[in-house]
Amino acid sequence: MSTTQIKCNQKVVFITGGGSGIGAATTDLFLKKGAKVISSDFSFPAVELSDVDFNLNPVKIPLDVRNQGQVSKVINMIVEKFGNLDVVINSAGIFKETSVFEISEDEWDNMMAVNAKGTFFVCQAALRYMIKQKNGSIVNISSESGLTGGEFSGAHYSASKAAVIGMTKSLAKLSAPYGVRVNSIAPGTISTPMISHLLTNSETIQKEIDENIPLKRLGVENIPLKRIGQPIEIANVICFLSSEEASYITGGCICVNGGTLMP
Ligand code: NAP
Repeated sequence: MSTTQIKCNQKVVFITGGGSGIGAATTDLFLKKGAKVISSDFSFPAVELSDVDFNLNPVKIPLDVRNQGQVSKVINMIVEKFGNLDVVINSAGIFKETSVFEISEDEWDNMMAVNAKGTFFVCQAALRYMIKQKNGSIVNISSESGLTGGEFSGAHYSASKAAVIGMTKSLAKLSAPYGVRVNSIAPGTISTPMISHLLTNSETIQKEIDENIPLKRLGVENIPLKRIGQPIEIANVICFLSSEEASYITGGCICVNGGTLMP
């Protein structure tokens, strides 16, 4: 089944982290498929929720997922405006490479607050409605680092992404009796602004080897498909997982990584 065949007409889709990378590609894909998309991001220009134009597509809402009250208000408003909520995608996230002995308490707390707690707040608010409407699908973006411990990512990033996989399974068990599905995706290396500073050409890698500088950059040598992924290649899997074509998948963690991890 190609995602080009999946239709999303009339579906109400809420996305976090929709302003960049995977979230932006997912917003575009759902728009092309005819969905009503509400895209939120920390980086969207500040506007009062009461001034947001819900007639646009996508609707754009500034949202910090760490703020439980604000998350709840946004979800309530979406349901009030459209009457239902079909799909939720949690793509908001932050990444840091800080080495173990350099991670401060504040940095640890913020990593967990955005990647783990923020994902939970959005799921919590969405499930209140999805369970009542006995329908809905949530896709949380974890990371390969959450399964294997990242080589480049900090321990706090890996921990926060493992938390996403664990909470996804708990929430999937809770919501399955109501016909609601919750899944996660563990992407490998995807070309987005989040990791652009780690991507480099082979000339730079060779220079680092010649000068005996510890290799800090991501090359494609260890990826079986010999390339990094594109945001649309994650968006396509999100689209499939959220659709009726994936109706028997819940609590899953789907690896999309060019072959680096074959669980
Ligand atoms: P990205 O381009 O940096 O997009 C992430 C978005 O989340 C940004 O627009 C960011 O806004 C937003 N954000 C950060 N903190 C937020 C908050 N508190 N509330 C709401 N939004 C917030 O990165 P991406 O690569 O698309 O990442 C999407 C997801 O995929 C993340 O969860 C990431 O951990 C995961 N992932 C990415 C890769 C990869 O290789 N790219 C691999 C595995 C997993 P600002 O720009 O203002 O910070």
